[in-house]
Amino acid sequence: MSIHERHRLSVVVNARGTFTPLGVSRSSAGVAAAVAEALPEFFVMDELGDRASEAIAHATGAQAGAVVHCTAAAITVAVAASMAGTEPRRIAMLPDARDMHNRVVLPAVHVVDYGQSNLQAVRLSGAQVVLAGDETRCTIDDLDEALDGPDVTCLLLTSSRLTDGEPLDLTAAVRAAHRRGVPAIIDGAAQLPRTADLLATGADLVLVSGQKYLASPTAGLICGTRSLVQAVRAQERGIGRGMKPTKEAVIGVLTALEEWQAMDRAKWEADQDAKVSSFVRKANELPGIVAEILPDPTGLPLSRALVKVTHAERVATELEAGSPPIYVITDRQADDELVLELVPLDPDEITLILTRLTAITTPT
Ligand SMILES: *Cc1c(COP(=O)(O)O)cnc(C)c1O
Repeated sequence: MSIHERHRLSVVVNARGTFTPLGVSRSSAGVAAAVAEALPEFFVMDELGDRASEAIAHATGAQAGAVVHCTAAAITVAVAASMAGTEPRRIAMLPDARDMHNRVVLPAVHVVDYGQSNLQAVRLSGAQVVLAGDETRCTIDDLDEALDGPDVTCLLLTSSRLTDGEPLDLTAAVRAAHRRGVPAIIDGAAQLPRTADLLATGADLVLVSGQKYLASPTAGLICGTRSLVQAVRAQERGIGRGMKPTKEAVIGVLTALEEWQAMDRAKWEADQDAKVSSFVRKANELPGIVAEILPDPTGLPLSRALVKVTHAERVATELEAGSPPIYVITDRQADDELVLELVPLDPDEITLILTRLTAITTPT
C-alpha cells in the first residue's frame, strides 16, 4: 500500500512549482535515507548547528549560516537578531521591542504574500514596518528617506517572482542601508541557485528555503555575516524557540547541501531545458493550444511552460478536478494563460498532463 492509500490522501501531480500547500518538493532518496537515519538518534544540537553553519558557508560563500524551521521563521528570527543581537535581556524581552531600535524598512513593492504576508512575519518579532515608496515603485531616494527615520533596525528586501511593480536594484538598496549603518536582509526563499548573487549585493543576511529548490525537509537557511548569524542562533533562547529546526531537518539540509554541491549544475539546467522544450513542442500539437518556453522572471536558471488556451480558468479547474488532480500556476489565467513548472515531475506525469490537456481541449 502506498503512503497515500494508507492514510486516505490524494495523489497529486504538482506542476505549480515549490508550492507549500502541495508539499513543496520531492527529496532525493539520499536525503530521505539520512533523515530516517537521524530520527532514532540523539545529537548535541549545538554541534548540529555548528556543522550546518560550516556547510552553509561552504556551499554559499557566506561567512556563516544557521537553520531555522522555515523561511517565514527566518524572516522573524533575522529581524529579532537585528533588534536584540546576542544580549540575553533583550532576547528574553521580545516581542516587546519598545526599548530597542525596532523599525524595519521594507520597499512597498517587496510586500509579498506567500500564504502569509511578510509584513506579519516581521511584526511577529515585535518590530514595526516602515514602507518605502508605493506599490508601483520604490526609488533609492524613497529608501534613503525611510532609512533616515528614527530607530531603524534593518532593511528587508524580497527577491521573488511574487514582488510587484518596478524592480529595485538590490545592490544599490543594500548600499543605501549600509550608508546609514543599517544591516540589509534579503528574503530569497525560492532563489537557492541565486544565493551567491544575492550575497554579492553585500546583504548581511540572505534567507533561503530548504524545502523549495534544495528539496530538503522543511527548513529555512540563513546565510550571512558571522556576527548576525550568531545573533540569529542566540534567538533560540527567545522567540526563536518555536521556530527551531528539528534534528532530522538539519541532517536533511546537510545531506541536501552535499548533493547540491556534488551535482553537475550545467547538466541539471540542460535537462530542465530539454524537459520544458519537449513539453512545449508536444503541447503545440494539441488543438486550441499555443505553448511557449517562459524564462524565470527573476533570473533563476530554469524555465517554465506557458500554455495559452481559451477558457484557461475552466481548463485549470478541470485539471484539478480530475484524478489524479493536476495543479498548474494560475496567476495569469485571467489572460487565458497557464504556467507549468516541470522541475520535479517524471516523464509519466508529464505524459499524463498532456493526455489530460488533450481530453479537456479536444472538441467533442
Ligand atoms: C515560500 C516563501 C516564503 C516562506 O517560506 P516557508 O519556508 O514556507 O516559510 C517566504 N518568502 C518568499 C519570497 C517565499 O517564496
